[in-house]
Amino acid sequence: MSAAGATHDEAWFAARAVAGVQRLRAYDPGHDLVALRRRFGAHALVELGSNENPYGPSADARAAILDQLHALHRYPDPRGGDLKRALSARHGVAPERLLLGNGSHELLMLLAQVFAGPGSEVAFSRYGFAVFAIAAQASGAVPRVVEPLPRDAAMPLGHDLEAIARAITPATRLVYLANPNNPTGTWYPGDAFQVFMRRVPEDVLVVVDEAYAELADPAVWSSALPLVACHPNLVVTRTFSKGYGLAGLRVGYLAGAPGLVAVLERVRESFNVNGPALAACEAALGDEAHLRWVAERNAEQRSMLARALRERGLFVFPSQTNFLLVELGPETARIEAALLEQGVVLRPMGGYGLPGCSRITVGTAEENRRLLRTLDDVLGGRR
Ligand SMILES: *Cc1c(COP(=O)(O)O)cnc(C)c1O
Repeated sequence: MSAAGATHDEAWFAARAVAGVQRLRAYDPGHDLVALRRRFGAHALVELGSNENPYGPSADARAAILDQLHALHRYPDPRGGDLKRALSARHGVAPERLLLGNGSHELLMLLAQVFAGPGSEVAFSRYGFAVFAIAAQASGAVPRVVEPLPRDAAMPLGHDLEAIARAITPATRLVYLANPNNPTGTWYPGDAFQVFMRRVPEDVLVVVDEAYAELADPAVWSSALPLVACHPNLVVTRTFSKGYGLAGLRVGYLAGAPGLVAVLERVRESFNVNGPALAACEAALGDEAHLRWVAERNAEQRSMLARALRERGLFVFPSQTNFLLVELGPETARIEAALLEQGVVLRPMGGYGLPGCSRITVGTAEENRRLLRTLDDVLGGRR
């Protein structure tokens, strides 16, 4: 037994995995927060590493979950009909254009599994969302990583839509964009995207991940959702994890052509969104006041925090999200470790190829104050 256990290690199984998975590295979820909460106590820890909504969901969403406790022995509605109708009413997108997922992460994976695969290419920007590379590779496709806009551009390291369009080859099946993007926080304007869509061949699927849509300022950012009806090769993904504050429930959705949704339905796990989650998301959609309140608090705290960090001589990337990418320079790892010792958790960016930067979630006013105070302690006389 022990001999078999020793040989059947990760390398042994990797060699027997499907081609795309053999060289794949698992998604890096950041620090071990469970251990950190145990060490510092959940209330002493300032968690700014995962872009979670510090205000939590609508009270209506909590109530809706309690209301589902009597039905836990039943399978949930496999079609998520009520939630789809609510989403349809909210966005003006027909229910047959909508697919629900166990988080948008699941849907991003599903898209590559179904529409990419061995022999195909999947294009996305360097410093794009980490799941894009994993989804492409896991499907067996070849990732085409496109260089971003330069560091001194108005949108430093943001998506270069022209370069992405140029990177499309006859083998390209899928393009992933994130708008606004994680981890850069950058975004691109709606007119540039319309030009881009006209350049993309109709048999190439364009997936726009709009995880931060609810937190972006409509004066400068626009959604691709209204364009889904004009472009059958356009898919938009959204999530309840960020603006709606329901990351723990794992619900996302996509909007696309009815035919595309029908094909994805063939592979989707039959009860991928659980009953309490369906009910809570429907209730959350109904509480527009809470969402507006969260978006306003976030925008206010985001500009306050960006200003404070810039006053400390740090470069802060532009953001329409609930996080800021900040350049801490060659001392980044030391600074992050020192902050962690004080119970302030940031997200290291080494895995993204940005070792001189850190991604900081915009917290509550109190959390941001603690971050800045601790940062001043750590930076000491450097200022
Ligand atoms: C947080 C995030 C998501 C959300 O993933 P879920 O699986 O819906 O929680 C998707 N895309 C990006 C770019 C994100 O930052």
